[in-house]
Formats: sequence, structure tokens, C-alpha cells
Amino acid sequence: MKLTIIGCWGAYPGPGGASSGYLVENGDGGESLLLDCGSGVLSKLYEYTNLNSLNNIVLSHYHSDHIADVGCLQYAAKVQMSLNERSVPLSFYGHTLSDSFNNLTYEDAAIGIPYKEGVPVAIGPFTLNFKAATHPAPAFALRIESGGISLGYTGDTEWDDNLIEFFKDVDLLLCESSLYNKFKGMVEGHLTAGEAGILARRANAGELILTHLPHFGDHSELLAEAKQEYIGKISLAFGGLIWES
Ligand SMILES: [Zn+2]
Ligand SMILES: [Zn+2]
Repeated sequence: MKLTIIGCWGAYPGPGGASSGYLVENGDGGESLLLDCGSGVLSKLYEYTNLNSLNNIVLSHYHSDHIADVGCLQYAAKVQMSLNERSVPLSFYGHTLSDSFNNLTYEDAAIGIPYKEGVPVAIGPFTLNFKAATHPAPAFALRIESGGISLGYTGDTEWDDNLIEFFKDVDLLLCESSLYNKFKGMVEGHLTAGEAGILARRANAGELILTHLPHFGDHSELLAEAKQEYIGKISLAFGGLIWES
């Protein structure tokens, strides 16, 4: 399994970057997945894949920093289909706890496909499972398995004991780390770096990548705070980071 960080910023993109977007491939040129499609993701995506080989987008929730480029991607598919450069519509996987799901289907270029907790979804070589997260808007964490390798992605969430079991023994935990420890309890819906470390430790994750990064402070402090809780390998996400297993 190969993960490429397309964008790692929380809330809005930093200069030349993108908010949430993560490309998951199987290394065999088959079906790939884009997890979330925030602001700047479409522009950065060209650096890592041929847009016409991307068919599946999985959305953790409908906050703008996770879906801002959905409309542009739908329109890109429409244009490319009219140019005969794309033959199949995009599949957007989303939850149905919000009317925003209805925006995922667009003419003949994009189809919204519902997911829900407890029902696995197969996409190409990948099996996805979903777990409700704790966030001001309905949001889901994802667990992706392929070829015996597992990837956990928190999406946006505050501390939630249910995620420990959900992410049990994942090879990689891609965990939101929006907050420095000193902000614990002050911002609802997000994790501190220390909590990301605790989640990785208690879930027995093989490796941890901190993402959904804040626009202030020194990110090396996030790393240090997570390291106080988890002894495995920890990385800070950046656009272009590749993890492979
Ligand atoms: Zn977010
Ligand atoms: Zn959010």
C-alpha cells in the first residue's frame, strides 16, 4: 500500500499547499483512492497521479477543508468525459447524515455512494470500514485494508475511546493533530498531538503520521508532544510525503 500526502493543512491551505487530501494506491496501477478533497488538492494532485486514473474519492465529512475541491473535480470529470479522456464517472463515497451527500452526484460525471458504520465497502483491492468520530459535524474515521496492510485515518475528531479498538494494530495511523497540548479541552472536535500519540500507543499502531496541521506555532513541538506518548516512528505530514508498505 502506498500513501501520498497531497495536502496536510487544517482549516485552509498554507502557501502553495493544500488542506486535507491523501492518495492511497496499491502499487499495481489499479484502482486508487483519494481520501478527502480539500482546498488546493486538485491542483496538487497532478503532481502525483493522472487525474483520469483516479475514480474513487472517499470523504470523511463535509467541512470545507475536506471537500472544497469536490465541485472542481466533478467539473473536471465532466470536461474530460466530453473530450473522451475519461470513460467512467467519479465515485464519491460519503455519509448520508447531512444533505451535503446530495451534492456528490453531478450530471453524468459523478455519483454519490453512501457509506455507514459497520458496513465494509470494497473499492478495487481495498476494503474500507467506517467509524463515527466525535466532531461538531457528523464525521467518520476510516480503516483501509489491502494485501494484509492496514491504514487508519482519523479524519477530524476529538478524543474518542471507540477509535482505539477501531484502529487496533494498524500498520499506519494517519492522525489529525490540530492542537498543541496546551490547547487541550479548549477547542472541540480536534485532537492534540499528545492525544494522537496516546491513540497510536493504545491502538498499537505500527507508525504514526501527524496531519491536519495548525497554521501557528512550531510543528516540531507537535512531534515532541506525540513522542512523549508513543515510542514508534512518528512523522509530520507534508505535501509529497510518501509512505509505503
Ligand atoms: Zn478539518
Ligand atoms: Zn472538520
